[in-house]
Amino acid sequence: MMYTTAIVIGAGHAGLAMSRRLTERSIDHVVLERGEVANSWRTQRWPSLRLLTPNWQTRLPGHDYAGDDPDGYMPAADVAATLTAYARVVGAPVRTATTVHAVRAGPVGFEIQAGDDLLRAQAVVLAAGGCIRSAIPAVASALPSQVTTMTPLDYRDPGQLPDGGVLVVGASATGVQLAGEIHRSGRPVTLAVGEHVRLPRSYRGRDIFWWLEATGLLAERYDQIDDLTRARHLPSPQLTGAPEAIMTDLNTLAAQGIRTVGRLGRIADGVAQFSGALANTCALADLKMNRFLNRADQWATASGLDGDLPPPHRFAPTRVDPGIPLELDLTSGEITTVLWATGFRPDHSWLGIPVHDRAGRIRHDGGIVTGAPGLYVLGMPVLRTRASTYIHGAGADSEALAGHLHSFLSSQRS
Ligand SMILES: Cc1cc2nc3c(=O)[nH]c(=O)nc-3n(C[C@H](O)[C@H](O)[C@H](O)COP(=O)(O)OP(=O)(O)OC[C@H]3O[C@@H](n4cnc5c(N)ncnc54)[C@H](O)[C@@H]3O)c2cc1C
Repeated sequence: MMYTTAIVIGAGHAGLAMSRRLTERSIDHVVLERGEVANSWRTQRWPSLRLLTPNWQTRLPGHDYAGDDPDGYMPAADVAATLTAYARVVGAPVRTATTVHAVRAGPVGFEIQAGDDLLRAQAVVLAAGGCIRSAIPAVASALPSQVTTMTPLDYRDPGQLPDGGVLVVGASATGVQLAGEIHRSGRPVTLAVGEHVRLPRSYRGRDIFWWLEATGLLAERYDQIDDLTRARHLPSPQLTGAPEAIMTDLNTLAAQGIRTVGRLGRIADGVAQFSGALANTCALADLKMNRFLNRADQWATASGLDGDLPPPHRFAPTRVDPGIPLELDLTSGEITTVLWATGFRPDHSWLGIPVHDRAGRIRHDGGIVTGAPGLYVLGMPVLRTRASTYIHGAGADSEALAGHLHSFLSSQRS
C-alpha cells in the first residue's frame, strides 16, 4: 500500500498541467499513466493528423511555443514530443505503464487499484482523456457484415482499407480530414453530413483561432453558457491543420469530387437511409458561421483594428446538389468501408464512485466532481470555459482546480 496526498490519472497535457500546478503548491502527488507520456497522441491519432490550433496557441503552464513556425500546425508526433519534453521540464512524477483499474472510496479519501498496487490518496484528479473511445451510433449494428468498419482511433492511413468506396459518417474536423485523405488515395468517398460547424481557416488575414480568442469567445465561462450540455457536445469545426491551411468546408470537398449526403439515419435491409434535410443543415451552419464573422467584425471595429486588417468579406454559401441520393445499398459492393467519424467519448468505466448522471456522464461543477469531495475531472470539452476543449485551456482550468484542491486539503487538516 502506497500513500500520497494526490493522484492524477493520465499523463496527457491535462494531467501534466495539473502536475505542474500541484508541484507549484508543494502538494505531494503521482501521475499514473497506462502507456507513456502523451499516450493518446502516440497510439490513438492517425499519423497525418495536425493540430487545428496554431502552434502559438499550444501553451501550457510555464510553457510557450518557442519554435520558428508559430503560425504552423503541429503534427501528432510533435505534440507527443512537446508533451514528453514538458513532462521532463516540469518534473512530473509520472509512473508509466500503470493502468488504473479502479478508484473507490477509501477509509480516508480514495483507494486506487493500479496494476497490482493499491494506492491511497486524499484527492484524485481524473485527467484520463475526453477522447478515449469512439462514439458510434446505434445504427452501426445494422451494417451488412461484408462492410469493413473502422473508427478514427484505429485508422492510420488509407492503405489499411480494402479497395472500393468509403462512407465516412460525420463531417466535423475528423470526418472532413479523413474524407479528404482517403479520397486522395483514389477511393471514391461519400460523406454523410449531420450537424456541423463551418468556419474558415483564416479570416481577414488572421487564423480563425486568433479571432476565436481575440473576440473572447473561447473565454466564455461554463456557468454563463445558456445551454451547457449542447456546448459540451458541439461538433469540432470543419478545419484542418494541413500546411497549406486551406478551407475544408463542404464546397471544397465537393469540388475535389467527394460526394456529400445527409445525416445517416437508419440502415434497413442493408440500405443506408440519409436525411433529406442536408440543405437546411448547411444553411444553419452558414448562418452560424456568418454570425461569428459579424461578431469578429464588430470586435475589430470596436478595437480600432479595421485599418490594420483587410476589409470584411463573406464566404460563398454551401452548395447542396438537389439530386443527392437519399439511400445507398451497402450490399451492392459500391461501399466496402464505413468510417465512423461520429465523435469521441471519455472512458471512466473504472470509476467506482457513484457520481454519474443518467447518461453516464460525471456530474461536476467546472471540474469539481459533485458529491465526492477531493475528486476532480480535467480535460473535458467546455469544462470551465470554451477554451477547455483545447490544449491551452488546461492552463486556467488546472490553476482553478489545483486552487480548489489545495483549499480542500487545508480544510481536511483543520
Ligand atoms: C482527433 C483529435 C484532434 C484534436 N485536435 C486538437 C487540436 O488541434 N488542438 C487542441 O488544442 N486540441 C485538440 N484535440 C483535443 C485535445 O487535445 C484532447 O482533448 C486531448 O486529447 C485531451 O487531453 P487530455 O490530457 O485530457 O487527454 P489525453 O491526451 O487523452 O490523455 C489522457 C491520458 O490518460 C491515460 N489513461 C486513460 N485511462 C487510463 C487509466 N485507466 N489508467 C491510466 N492511464 C489512463 C491515457 O493513456 C492518456 O495518456 C484533439 C483531439 C482529438 C481526438
